[in-house]
Amino acid sequence: MKVLVINTGSSSIKYQLFDMPKGAVLCTGLVEKVGEDESILTHKKYPDSDEEVKHIETNPIKDHTVGMNRVAELLIDPAWGVLGSAKEIDLVGHRVVHGGESFSSTTEITQEVKDKIKELSPLAPLHNPANLIGIEVAEQIFTNARQIAVFDTAFHHSLPEEAYRYAIPNSLYEENGIRVYGFHGTSHRYITKRAASLLDKPLNKLNIVTIHLGNGASMAAIKNGKSIDTTLGLTPLPGLVMGTRSGDIDPGVIFYLNETLGYSLPEIKSLLNKESGLKGLAGDNDMRSVTERAEAGDKEAMLALAIYTYRIKKYIGAYMAAIGAKPDAVVFTAGVGENSAVIRSMSVDGLSHLGIEIDAELNKARGGERKISTLESAVAIWVIPTNEELEIARQAFELT
Ligand code: ADP
Repeated sequence: MKVLVINTGSSSIKYQLFDMPKGAVLCTGLVEKVGEDESILTHKKYPDSDEEVKHIETNPIKDHTVGMNRVAELLIDPAWGVLGSAKEIDLVGHRVVHGGESFSSTTEITQEVKDKIKELSPLAPLHNPANLIGIEVAEQIFTNARQIAVFDTAFHHSLPEEAYRYAIPNSLYEENGIRVYGFHGTSHRYITKRAASLLDKPLNKLNIVTIHLGNGASMAAIKNGKSIDTTLGLTPLPGLVMGTRSGDIDPGVIFYLNETLGYSLPEIKSLLNKESGLKGLAGDNDMRSVTERAEAGDKEAMLALAIYTYRIKKYIGAYMAAIGAKPDAVVFTAGVGENSAVIRSMSVDGLSHLGIEIDAELNKARGGERKISTLESAVAIWVIPTNEELEIARQAFELT
């Protein structure tokens, strides 16, 4: 069965074509700068294999419809494609960022589902409208396929009420749905399933702390295989220090910025979403360059790393308390979590009293799924590369 996974952003389309249930990747690609004069389309057939064929084109792609049509052409192109016709695609799995309280699991897309995704747009204004465009364009092109929505919030539906409610008047939850939803659920779910397999534990007995460190970053406390707490909230702004987002901040800062310093609300929104985090602290949201500067003795970069990792450490302690038992593992994933030995090491430094001890040599080694704790460490530390696309393909496949 051919499953196309699509992740549409406001100016991008990421896609992967899978052969399920094998999980083999047939094609993968990315359309960037949709709507600009110099759009870039990078397409690979049989990626990361001996037979890999890479194709890049830079033509203006005026909107998502044009972009997705071009992707459909490439998928059936004699040189770069693998299909005889776009009709061979059986399922299209869409990443949808916000499912609110309506969607606790993967769902086949109907008009009603699309209306609901639209209704939830104020909660994810950058993401849900773009996801919806991806769905509507895919419906027109892949007419034979069933369209499936996989929600980033769904895995966190298991949060207990004490974890998902804010201490604000009840009516704001009851009438307006203001609560913690959490994000990166597809990644946390994938990591949880992989950890159960790698640690050889039944999923419903697995207790872990998952740490997803990409441009956006979040952690989750997993008890008996289910998410019981997570750092992102109503929106993807709280919790850890991120590339350009502040993470946790005293809400009073917002009033101070507005009332005393004269910032408007749109300016504060932009400040906290786009100018904060690593960018605010070190002037750069790329962890590679911040780490290099810190290693060369740059004080600003060193402080940024200290703040970034102190926040992670605090949440490890908090989530061990939330789980209420010694976790089986702490797991790092995503761009920073998979690649930065320094960040992993600083995040767990000084946690041996909690039974968490990193092995310096194992931590430095590169590779795929790997254990990086010492033999004595009561809680294992793992690096598990995430694979959100494969998880979306599986979810879509299993639903149907
Ligand atoms: P997203 O999918 O959220 O856009 P990724 O999971 O791809 O993000 O992670 C992007 C982040 O990973 C960037 O901050 C980048 O600097 C960081 N990163 C990638 N490789 C390395 C590395 N070798 N060392 C440190 N950070 C890295």
